[in-house]
Amino acid sequence: MIKNTASSRGVATRSNLNTSRTSTGIDISKPLKIASTAVADGRSGIVSKKRPEGASTSAPKSKETKLSAQSPPELSDTESEETELSSSNGEESSWISWYCGLRGNELLCEVDEDYIQDDFNLCGLQGQVPYYDHALDMILDNDSLSGELDGEEHSEIESAAELLYGLIHARYILTNKGLNAMHEKYKRVDFGRCPRVFCAGQPCLPVGTSDIPHNGSVKIYCPKCEDLYLPRCKYQGNMDGAYVGTTFPHLYLMTYPSAKPAKPVQSYVPKVFGFKIHKGSR
Ligand SMILES: [Zn+2]
Repeated sequence: MIKNTASSRGVATRSNLNTSRTSTGIDISKPLKIASTAVADGRSGIVSKKRPEGASTSAPKSKETKLSAQSPPELSDTESEETELSSSNGEESSWISWYCGLRGNELLCEVDEDYIQDDFNLCGLQGQVPYYDHALDMILDNDSLSGELDGEEHSEIESAAELLYGLIHARYILTNKGLNAMHEKYKRVDFGRCPRVFCAGQPCLPVGTSDIPHNGSVKIYCPKCEDLYLPRCKYQGNMDGAYVGTTFPHLYLMTYPSAKPAKPVQSYVPKVFGFKIHKGSR
């Protein structure tokens, strides 16, 4: 029965987000085949979970998911297939890890559920996010809301869940645990490299130009030349800058001073026929 978990999420991801990584890591024919099996079994609820083309990058965790996860495994001829799916999908059991694994979300780290469950950490966010309670339930995989919502509401809650997660993320990455999680990503060069030639591929850090949502997309900050660039991946460029915030890279470099590179020694000198250009002529 675990196959529904994989197929429902896999289908939602692929059908609505052709830009997203196939989170299941399975070739496309397989989950589609399994999805049709699920429909034939009368569990066609996954159809309503599909998200419209071009929608934002979260997907719902269906009620069937939880139910099927809790029900005892049934012996069937597809059991080996289920096992294979569940094992390859093992790390994507939560909404958070699934969401962070989507293409374009590489700049985000996984926020500890303990952090999200502490109301103190979420203080003030209720007024900024519509459908706050539902969005929080979605992030934490509480299925209290599934089944009562129509497609439009579900879609709005998905967007709200993304916004809420982003705003929680911006706070989390300023904590010790969050800084450490981002340190690991920085070491893996998950945030990309500086495009400036004399920075010689310096790994960058994400930054927002505003802490208020809908006020600009995320940028990457090069700690070497201390300038901002657009992320090379256009999907990353669609992310709201408030999901990272204005403080993160600078607090990070204060916390991990060894991560701060030396200033660049070279700078570009414009020349004409090999001669430097006089300042007055530029
Ligand atoms: Zn640079």
